[in-house]
Amino acid sequence: MDERVFESLPLSQDSFQVLWESVLPSMATQPILDQDNWLPELNTTLSGFDLFPYVPPVLENLLTPPASTVPTTSDYPGEHAFQLRFQKSGTAKSVTSTYSATLNKLYCQLDKTCPLEVLVDKEPPHGAILRATAVYKKTEHVAEVVRRCPHHQQEDAFEHRSHLIRVEGSQRAQYMEDLNTKRQSVTLPYESPQLGSSHTTLLLNFMCNSSCMGGMNRRPILAILTLETPEGQVLGRRCFEVRVCACPGRDRKIEEENASKTPSGSKPTKKRKATPAPAPSTAPPKKIKSASSTEEDDKEVFVLRVRGRERYENLKKINEGLELLEKNKCKEEVVGGASRGKRRVDEGTD
Ligand SMILES: [Zn+2]
Repeated sequence: MDERVFESLPLSQDSFQVLWESVLPSMATQPILDQDNWLPELNTTLSGFDLFPYVPPVLENLLTPPASTVPTTSDYPGEHAFQLRFQKSGTAKSVTSTYSATLNKLYCQLDKTCPLEVLVDKEPPHGAILRATAVYKKTEHVAEVVRRCPHHQQEDAFEHRSHLIRVEGSQRAQYMEDLNTKRQSVTLPYESPQLGSSHTTLLLNFMCNSSCMGGMNRRPILAILTLETPEGQVLGRRCFEVRVCACPGRDRKIEEENASKTPSGSKPTKKRKATPAPAPSTAPPKKIKSASSTEEDDKEVFVLRVRGRERYENLKKINEGLELLEKNKCKEEVVGGASRGKRRVDEGTD
């Protein structure tokens, strides 16, 4: 919709400009005040700035950190060569937090310590801070703020209970919510490594499962770690995907195996469309599901997106068949038990 608006601009630019200048500045800038709805769009289509010839000074202030509206997720070591390192934990069943370098993805259990090693080549300015923010990975979800699910918030007495990311083991952690974007983050003063050490360690907790209903709801997230000046200027940035789940070791192993099977690794869905191999499109997700399915998963309802009506109808039939099979199985157990009982009664009367 927005693209169409912008496309049609050059034709009506003059009349629009006249119209624009004729209205009161306060009226003209009204949409800007609606930060939640307006800014994310502006950030993605910067040409939108041409639309607003008049920006009052107050609003200019609100616009100064435009990156925070939709947080940037590209790595930026900066002049301090800001770097993160994860402890090597492997994929054993018992592991509570493990990092996949090939997928740049951290797998961890809810509310379990995730140690992150922070490295810099050059000491940042005095008062520098580290900030951790979570953002949804997919474009269709990125405008939504990542928060904990209502269930986990409710059962927690912690003051900042809506924050997904928590810093463990420091009284100096500060929990913040951006006034404009409502995005939540946690900051900690940067500490220089102790003598003889190359890094400082940051302990993070993720306070919801990736599957939490009403929260992440199975939508993948990225954690963004920034090194900032006390004024909030970004000196360095590192991002990684996070999956909070019951079995981090198992899930990492499965996802790494699946990634190694697909040609591209990182974006299997798009690559698969191009390959003419016979129906590979449904195989990998199914594999993930069946391999990682638990009792909990069996009761859960999954939504499958299918391309093409015919395929949809076929899959629907299969699903209906499976439902029927399950229903009959239940019936058989009940009916079988009853008839056996009846037969025994009949036999008895004979
Ligand atoms: Zn939750």
